[in-house]
Amino acid sequence: MIHRGPFPNGLNRVRSWKDGHYDTSWTVDFIIHNKTMQREGMKTFKQNETQSIYETVVDVHDGDDVSSDTYCCPNCGSVSTIAELQEGCAYCGTSFKMSELYPKVKNYFFVFDMSGKTDHMFKTVIRYGLYLLPLNIIMCLAVLLQKSGVGFKGLMAGEKVFTGLWSILYAPICITLMIPVFGFVGWMLDCFRLAFSSLPVLFEVMGSRQRFAAGISPVCPEFTFEYFISKIVSFFKIFAYSENRRDLPFYAGSDNGEEFDDLVDASFFGTMSCKRVARKDNMVYVTGDLYMENAYDLSNRIKAKKEIFRVRAGRRTDIPFTTNFSITKIQCPSCGGSFNAFKTRSCPYCGNEYKQENTDWVIYDIQNITKKIKIKRVITWLVVAAVFVGTFLYEMSMFYGLNNGF
Ligand SMILES: [Zn+2]
Ligand SMILES: [Zn+2]
Repeated sequence: MIHRGPFPNGLNRVRSWKDGHYDTSWTVDFIIHNKTMQREGMKTFKQNETQSIYETVVDVHDGDDVSSDTYCCPNCGSVSTIAELQEGCAYCGTSFKMSELYPKVKNYFFVFDMSGKTDHMFKTVIRYGLYLLPLNIIMCLAVLLQKSGVGFKGLMAGEKVFTGLWSILYAPICITLMIPVFGFVGWMLDCFRLAFSSLPVLFEVMGSRQRFAAGISPVCPEFTFEYFISKIVSFFKIFAYSENRRDLPFYAGSDNGEEFDDLVDASFFGTMSCKRVARKDNMVYVTGDLYMENAYDLSNRIKAKKEIFRVRAGRRTDIPFTTNFSITKIQCPSCGGSFNAFKTRSCPYCGNEYKQENTDWVIYDIQNITKKIKIKRVITWLVVAAVFVGTFLYEMSMFYGLNNGF
């Protein structure tokens, strides 16, 4: 990522809000995002894009910052800071289970930035004009054919159209002059297309924040939608990249997620929807759609695609929410080994299953619903188009009907 633009440190707190225990803000920076992937020295994927990077920064406003406090390892007695212990004790390797440290970047995503195009306007227009050159040639020749008085019928009958120096010169001049005109129209249409491409997503996530808040606040008023989204994104990435998905402590689903075996890159698309919040006994379940841009290794090439996943997650409601800091050593009750219980639920030394009390969100299901959503979008567009055309035809018939009446 290469920094660009007039703000050397990006823009902090472009938007910020306080709720429950959290102080959340967005930080934006402007970058040129270069992605290259290679295998055995051969480039298999290359992408350069001007983008903005958005970071969600979360801080707790009623907790203490303990990250630089020191802590004595209960296993070997070495002293480290709490922040260092997140990766385990550097001296003996003991792993700890601790509350999250703040402030932290909870989530980030990239947005394509059209204004970041450094190309001159004229250059852009010419580029579009060249893309549309075939169309330009066909239209210019058709016009010439018409103007010369020969017409399509005459051409089929074998009449000569382009005779003399004048008409030989006329076609290239006409086509050249029309390049910027075609380019400008093409560029405008492409801008519209870009603006419209995010429209379906906007409709699909509409009302999600309110739905989440209405469902969650009677149970856990402290939970914010941003916090939930960042949790789901990080769980999704761990799940997708994991080698042994069934062994992940936060995953209670049945699917093995084989479709992710060839995943090489996953980035959050900046949004998630909340479809449903349901309560049962001492659990609350949230179903929502996660928008991702994933790249897969197809062995001969890399394919990047936008995908949508329906995720069902749940959390216990009888565990009180706290921002008080806590730290405990993770120890296998069977062999005494210590390991990162967030990434695996079985002890890597003796294989014993380590049942930690699950106080966090648990994923019950992850389903790729990209095709379903795409079909739904096409049907929606068709219905909108049908209503539009129907209304137009009706108005027309009314208009002519009235005229006839007169
Ligand atoms: Zn230690
Ligand atoms: Zn063990």
